[in-house]
Amino acid sequence: MKKQLTDMHLKDKRVLMRCDFNVPLDKDLNITDDIRIKSALRSINYVLENGGSLILMSHLGRPKGEARQEYSLKPVAKRLADLLEKEIVFADYDEVVNEKVKALADRLIPGEVMLLQNTRFRKEETKNDLDFSKELASLADVFINDAFGTAHRAHSSNVGVTQYLPSAVGFLIGKEIEAIGGALSNPKRPLTAILGGAKVSDKIGVIENLLGIADYILVGGGMAFTFVKAQGYPVGKSLLEADKVELAKALLVKAKEKGVEMLLPMDYKVAKEFKDTDQYEVVDWKEIPEDAMGLDIGKATIESFSEVIKNSKTVIWNGPMGVFEFENFAEGTNEIAKTLAKEDVISIIGGGDSAAAVEKAGLAELMTHISTGGGASLKYMEGKLLPGIEAIEDK
Ligand code: AMP
Repeated sequence: MKKQLTDMHLKDKRVLMRCDFNVPLDKDLNITDDIRIKSALRSINYVLENGGSLILMSHLGRPKGEARQEYSLKPVAKRLADLLEKEIVFADYDEVVNEKVKALADRLIPGEVMLLQNTRFRKEETKNDLDFSKELASLADVFINDAFGTAHRAHSSNVGVTQYLPSAVGFLIGKEIEAIGGALSNPKRPLTAILGGAKVSDKIGVIENLLGIADYILVGGGMAFTFVKAQGYPVGKSLLEADKVELAKALLVKAKEKGVEMLLPMDYKVAKEFKDTDQYEVVDWKEIPEDAMGLDIGKATIESFSEVIKNSKTVIWNGPMGVFEFENFAEGTNEIAKTLAKEDVISIIGGGDSAAAVEKAGLAELMTHISTGGGASLKYMEGKLLPGIEAIEDK
């Protein structure tokens, strides 16, 4: 088990904490969703309440090693100060760490908070350059990684830095390990995985890993059509990865061999064009017309998937069941979210679009866990070790 924030002595310590403040901004640089900042508050407050001072760091967007002001963490500094109801020091230096930043860090007293500028203003960051890690580490006595969203990347601010400071994971990463790690390594069964989204190619690793773990795999979304084709039926103008048809066949065979029930949609809502239209029809999965594309799962599928959910103890969900951004094709995704919210199951929502769909449906509070990292949770579900977590010492 990885060292936790609660295992660390924090009194009078300067704590360097990697957060995920990669928030969406509008064109006037206003934060449009501050959930990531709010999610970090628990670890932040714990450090402050236990007598430490904080040096927070994060990336924002992809400035690609240049100090581009549209990616400044200034809006985050302001929102964080509002949420904490205290002043924070924003070390607004393009170099992220320099002599002035070191002096500011030296002057911090317990209870004070400082935020560094975007770590990706330095080109060394994404190369996991150890000299940059050392500079960051020189500011503090202890390192905490609480940025799950970047845990699948090895960067200076989350991996390299652990070589120079005693390190632990914060509450957010701790919760991700408990929820996703727990569901994969020691699930309450039956364990069901619901996979959707655009492409099979993005989810191959997840399906392969889950074929050795899950009891049921339900496949929806655009990726289902490659499986339809694999069974010899037409897909019309639906999304299709022609070069993955053979692989889809192999996955269906493997599921049978392993005794995993892999369920594909029985019906689809199809339309003639890719747009939000009420001119759709519902067709059987074997009868997708040549001039139509499947944009959502149909009612029969919603019912059969819901039945499996009701009989499950743990459900992991990654990827929408249809083009949920279009109101006319959001029903499948919304109904699956509602069933998950209503039933007495451990519900774990992978980040990204499925998390957005659950939030849009107002059901976030009713899920057991919503992951804060799309890419990271996908890698975790593939059974891959995440470098940002692996770098932390075991207890
Ligand atoms: P992903 O990022 O792979 O999870 O894919 C999410 C995207 O898949 C969303 O933007 C959905 O609109 C899209 N999607 C889901 N179902 C379909 C479908 N049947 N046809 C086209 N796109 C889809």
